Amino acid sequence: MIVYDLDSLVGVNKSESVSSMGLSSSQSLANQNLYIFVKENFQLAHIEPTLSSDDSTQVEEKWSIVVIRDPFLCRQFCDDVQFTLSVSETQQRAADRAEAEQTLRCVQCNDFYSEEDNKVGQCVHHDGFVYDNYSNTLTQWSPERAIEQLLIEEAEAVQQANVGNGPLTNEQKERAERAKQRFRYICCNQMLQTSGNANGCKKGKHGPQNITRNEWELARDNNQEYHEKRRRLLTIRAEQHQ
Ligand SMILES: [Zn+2]
Ligand SMILES: [Zn+2]
Repeated sequence: MIVYDLDSLVGVNKSESVSSMGLSSSQSLANQNLYIFVKENFQLAHIEPTLSSDDSTQVEEKWSIVVIRDPFLCRQFCDDVQFTLSVSETQQRAADRAEAEQTLRCVQCNDFYSEEDNKVGQCVHHDGFVYDNYSNTLTQWSPERAIEQLLIEEAEAVQQANVGNGPLTNEQKERAERAKQRFRYICCNQMLQTSGNANGCKKGKHGPQNITRNEWELARDNNQEYHEKRRRLLTIRAEQHQ
């Protein structure tokens, strides 16, 4: 019988790398050749006839035991030698798989994602409310309400023209165009758009899963740092008007 200590004999290399997709970590076997040697020996038949005896009922038992502490190494080895999993391990793996593949909805960008491919950089969103840049008080709006308001105004302008006032004058058109551009995100001063893919100034991972979209919106609209920024903008404008 032979006992292999795979942590000492093979070992695991852990590396972290930073790319445009964010921080990713990977693990690999340190001593590949020894790993293959142990794996092949482990898989060999355990019982064979004794060569030194003519009696065919005499068998030699060849046992090998592998001790592994590292979870990555253990999982890799069990998979490679198709080691029978315990009931709890099978259940745990099924649960892990189901969780990884589950389709979730991100509270930050409203898009769908699965935890399996949730990497840094995939969630693009604004984390601040919007303000009306043309109003004297820089009125705060939630982006959802501001988009509704812009759509209403756009529809009203078309209806007004249909009611018999004739086509809009150039001046009216210009005023309407300017009005469309009045909402700015407090986080980055980008203009609020009513259509097209919503870009954002923050790039991160989708989530978090433990709060609802409503709770996230509430936290965004009450962000103290951004309230402070809005107050600062107001002060600067008041000073310039003096
Ligand atoms: Zn932003
Ligand atoms: Zn997201």
